[in-house]
Amino acid sequence: HHGHKGKRLSHEELQKILLDTPSSEKAEEWSRYYTAGAHLAGKNYSQAEWTKERWEEWGIKSSIVAYDVYINYPSDHSVSLLEKSSDAKSWDVTFKASLTEDVLEDDPTTSAQDKIPTFHGYSASGNVTGSFVYVNYGTYQDYADLVAAGIDFKGKIAIARYGGIFRGLKVKRAQELGAVGVLIYSDPGDDGEITEENGYAAYPEGPARNPSSVQRGSVQFLSSRPGDPTTPGYPSKPGVPRAPADETTPSIPSIPISYADAIPLLKALNGHGPQASDLNKYWTKNLGLGYKGVKYNIGPSPEDVVINLFNEQEYVTTPQWDVIGIINGTIPNEVVVIGNHRDAWIVGGASDPNSGSAVLNEAVRSIGKALEAGWKPIRTIVFASWDGEEYGLVGSTEWVEEYLPWLSGANVAYVNVDGGASGPHFSASAAPLLNQVLRDATHLVPSPDQSVPGQSVGDVWGGKISTMGSGSDFTAFQDYAGIPSVDIGFGGNGSGPVYHYHSNYDSFHWMSEFADPGFVYHRTMAQVLGILIGELTDVIIIPFGATEYADALDGYLDKVEAKLQSVDTELATEAEIFAIRGSVTSEEVIGSQDAFEESLKKIRHSISEFRDKAVKLDEKAAWARDKLEHGIPWWNIIEKAKLGYAIAIVNEQYKFIERHFLFEGGLDNRSWFKHVVFAPGLWTGYAGAVYPGLVESIDAKNYSNGLKWAEIINHAVEKATKSIK
Ligand code: GLU
Ligand code: CA
Ligand code: ZN
Ligand code: ZN
Repeated sequence: HHGHKGKRLSHEELQKILLDTPSSEKAEEWSRYYTAGAHLAGKNYSQAEWTKERWEEWGIKSSIVAYDVYINYPSDHSVSLLEKSSDAKSWDVTFKASLTEDVLEDDPTTSAQDKIPTFHGYSASGNVTGSFVYVNYGTYQDYADLVAAGIDFKGKIAIARYGGIFRGLKVKRAQELGAVGVLIYSDPGDDGEITEENGYAAYPEGPARNPSSVQRGSVQFLSSRPGDPTTPGYPSKPGVPRAPADETTPSIPSIPISYADAIPLLKALNGHGPQASDLNKYWTKNLGLGYKGVKYNIGPSPEDVVINLFNEQEYVTTPQWDVIGIINGTIPNEVVVIGNHRDAWIVGGASDPNSGSAVLNEAVRSIGKALEAGWKPIRTIVFASWDGEEYGLVGSTEWVEEYLPWLSGANVAYVNVDGGASGPHFSASAAPLLNQVLRDATHLVPSPDQSVPGQSVGDVWGGKISTMGSGSDFTAFQDYAGIPSVDIGFGGNGSGPVYHYHSNYDSFHWMSEFADPGFVYHRTMAQVLGILIGELTDVIIIPFGATEYADALDGYLDKVEAKLQSVDTELATEAEIFAIRGSVTSEEVIGSQDAFEESLKKIRHSISEFRDKAVKLDEKAAWARDKLEHGIPWWNIIEKAKLGYAIAIVNEQYKFIERHFLFEGGLDNRSWFKHVVFAPGLWTGYAGAVYPGLVESIDAKNYSNGLKWAEIINHAVEKATKSIK
């Protein structure tokens, strides 16, 4: 790399190739290919092969890795509103939901022969009838509000709106409360300003939501464990033993519906039970169907007005295919993995996932060009086109479970792109170790928005980095294997054209007309991805920031303490109420809160020790970088030896820092999740929880459990500190 003669590329030459190669025309071509036919998990072999062939054409040795995976395909379904006839002897069907998305003349793939019905991944089959309740977003708190308002869910069907949390958790809580079925609809009130009510035309004429659009999606209990439900912690290879799926998949049926289909059902609740606005302020948020006559009463519907929900799913164990491309680096045991999922719920999937797939292809092609020009990466590069993400991150999770020993020893970082380019707004979540290299990469790429001449993606972005939650393929890397991960992409910010997520209208037509005309953000995203890969694999010192991790750990602890404070005041008011009523609390407080608070101080102290060492490590890395850049005179053998030693030490220490935050026993009641700092929120799924063991203990007012977690976390921080001494 340094000081070599001949065709070796300089870092700047590499960067130039990574910026110059991606093209909008090519991205559009890949997008057109992927979005032209159904590519549901386990039914996309031709697209797997095609992807492998392209990558090989671009000089990347690739193979298809298959898993035998337990998933469902839709057979039949119906949703009917039934009312007792006037003689009370029989039931009349007063409304039958269409459960289909309209065929649009302007959008060719909406009339494709192989269209996928509207259904939920991993939903249970069932034929249930019951009176029904509107449950708002179906969050844990929403259900709690309803229970407090006197709703008994036994035998009922819940109607939830999409939004806020991962859909599977809406079904999970309904099931726990005794409901027999769930319908989930897309309320236009959650589409921001861009609604038909506000005068915007619906897709395809305009940017508003098409009333018939339906959000498919998995209802797996994602925060319990992703991956194949029947192979917890080991790869779904043919012939392996299978566990029952019921721990992480629902036992009650659910069906996703459009708002057009939801209106008659919600209207049947008018006048029954309190209105959403009677509950609390939060329930009045985004009620987008008032203008259609929906009063948002919560119900339940009277006994003589019921819903029949029929859902038939075929469960199979069937092959799925990851495409894996490998470029060997000069250092064999330092590996960077870059992945995107290929499977989609629909014909189309122009945004999710195939804007990412097109971007990944352009990044692979760029790296291929660099190889052609004589480049050799320092670290090994692994490209992955995952299958089965939509059902529950299946392709990536099974692969990580299979290659865990290798990844644990060698994997430096994982870079994820899911929906990669469906709008002009860059967003990112990342492990703090990767924050700086991500910011640096975005500042090397010009933004398509040149309203301020010369501005970069990083300038426009503003630099907000979220913590790692879940909902995409980084989960097994970050939370199970302890590999620092980053998830990036361009998308909308809620003020542009409505994104028809998991609907037939996430199509090539929508992408090219509304989301990314000219595929300019596809190209830019491929540049960002390429540059990031270059920074991670062509720079001798692993470009991590340990100090930023320490600071993040400190900040997360602030959040835990703030939460504890707010529980404190909650308790105080409860105590006052009890004093007045003379009753006892139903929620027992377990253990001593004071002792728990003390244990947090201990973590605080350990973090400050970790920070001291982290600063030193980052300084040593900076010193080595400087020496590499400016060189050491040939005669200074001692300095050269010092540098060689520093490189080895710094890289070894950076590589394993994240690993020390794994706890072999895993989180409470979800032991697959091993990371003690990052996890999907138990009742959010998508949004991340920090120090999940601590916050869940506080939520449960179980301070002795909190104490246990404080010790586990403290130990992890101490281990990390020791590792970088
Ligand atoms: N991206 C998928 C979704 O949100 C992930 C499914 C899952 O994580 O189970 O529906
Ligand atoms: Ca598995
Ligand atoms: Zn996706
Ligand atoms: Zn998706």
